[in-house]
Amino acid sequence: MDRNSVLELVAGILPASQINTDADELYDAAADRYKKYAKARKVLDAPTPVAIVYPRTTEETARVLSMCNEHGINVIPRSGKTATEGGLENWKENTLVVDARDLNRIIKIDETNMQATVEAGVVLQTLEDELNKRGLTTGHSPQSKPVAKLGGLVATRSIGQFSTLYGGIEDMVVGLECVFPDGHVARIKNVPRRAGGPDIRHIVIGNEGTLCYITEVTVKIYRHFPENHVFFGYLIPDVASGIKVLREVMVNGYRPSVARVYSEEDARQHFYHFYKGKCVLLFLAEGNKGIVEATCAGIEEAVAKFEDRIIEQVDSSLIESWFTHLNWSQQDIDDEFQGMIDNDSHAGFTTEVSADWETIPTLYDNVIKRIREEFPRAHDLTMLGGHSSHSYINGTNMYFVYNYAIHCAPEDEMRVYHHPIQRIIVEETLKLGGSMCHHHGIGKYRNEWTQEEHGSAYIMLEKLKEAFDPNGIMNFGTLFYQEEGARFQK
Ligand SMILES: Cc1cc2nc3c(=O)[nH]c(=O)nc-3n(C[C@H](O)[C@H](O)[C@H](O)COP(=O)(O)OP(=O)(O)OC[C@H]3O[C@@H](n4cnc5c(N)ncnc54)[C@H](O)[C@@H]3O)c2cc1C
Repeated sequence: MDRNSVLELVAGILPASQINTDADELYDAAADRYKKYAKARKVLDAPTPVAIVYPRTTEETARVLSMCNEHGINVIPRSGKTATEGGLENWKENTLVVDARDLNRIIKIDETNMQATVEAGVVLQTLEDELNKRGLTTGHSPQSKPVAKLGGLVATRSIGQFSTLYGGIEDMVVGLECVFPDGHVARIKNVPRRAGGPDIRHIVIGNEGTLCYITEVTVKIYRHFPENHVFFGYLIPDVASGIKVLREVMVNGYRPSVARVYSEEDARQHFYHFYKGKCVLLFLAEGNKGIVEATCAGIEEAVAKFEDRIIEQVDSSLIESWFTHLNWSQQDIDDEFQGMIDNDSHAGFTTEVSADWETIPTLYDNVIKRIREEFPRAHDLTMLGGHSSHSYINGTNMYFVYNYAIHCAPEDEMRVYHHPIQRIIVEETLKLGGSMCHHHGIGKYRNEWTQEEHGSAYIMLEKLKEAFDPNGIMNFGTLFYQEEGARFQK
């Protein structure tokens, strides 16, 4: 089918005002931040989608999806456009980007049952601002909070900066509504808990737009006590020492909302004004007064137990002011992109993994050593380090951060720099039994390892795809490896 025929079909469903064929917007829609450098330099190899469409209702979404299903048109669901792993990149000639821009209503804030229901296109910050006015919070605070939207946040299994207390999005979603490719609308009702078979929310949460389109979400909400926040910061000699303290806090049952350890290199870019060439350990205790007091005592107890590993305590106001400026606005994202257009040939990327307490320090050391020794362009690295930022009773994550000066053609940046580094991180993680993907989603550039990640359980994922998207129209190449897409990964 040619692109004009696709447009005619979609015009039969939506008015012209909900169909966008602007050339610049289509170029922008062809890739996300994974290829931000190639995109800025106008050398993207991905085809542009035929159109971006903006359904206003679940019914319109269902009609668009079932039309695409019938005619074999690829669908890329899109919400806040902050994807970092290629989840929004287009690998098909006939693609419609189905954007949640106009699904933007806050449907209900239910203060009695402590839950809020919103459409998929509501920006998390907008919901959070509404809740804060009432002394409430979602507890969800990814750095992309000012831009990311609820549909995308659920689809990627996102996690926020206060996760150690509130959990990831999977702990927050009560119920939701989604549309499958055949147009079927499924609503998972809002109940506190149920034992009615497997938890079907988890078919939708983290599906990365490969099984269904999320139209509505209900999340838990919490009382908010920002006046009780207490910050702690310490200089420590190495990552392993920080992990020991984090573990002590967690296994003793305390839940600071923020609990983090930064490597020296990562500390340099965040805490250059006080880090003194050391690693940094930090916490935020939050909640009602009694909980904060107990959490503070738990943190101090853990720090005292490992006092031989604490170099010095940092003024808590330094941690607080750093934390207040951590989020990225749309302006920050645009400025970074503009910098690349204006000749900044320097890029920064991240790969986030997880493993148990025993494994994480070894994993961190192995990865850093291998990148320094094996990566042929190691001399172009301007920063290599990482931090642990989300802890659990049984382990934590590691967020590897790497910046480099680009000395190759823009179209080769991924092949020469980004992917070889990511490969080392993923290989080491899988070798040690960790997960290669903690919270950004697999997207299109870790899909070659999806099967290895899941091992004998991969069949469950594969069967879901076969059952819910038998014609393979949902976000081709994301999450599931596709031979046909390999040329874009080169
Ligand atoms: C500066 C910055 C900071 C970040 N910080 C964090 C962080 O702290 N924690 C974190 O977890 N992530 C973070 N991210 C990654 C990103 O913000 C998250 O993955 C976020 O959940 C994406 O939401 P979005 O609305 O922007 O989705 P999009 O970018 O629009 O889409 C992301 C993926 O979800 C799918 N999708 C989108 N909408 C729907 C829908 N309605 N139905 C089905 N599938 C859909 C898309 O197809 C795509 O695969 C950060 C990104 C940036 C740029």
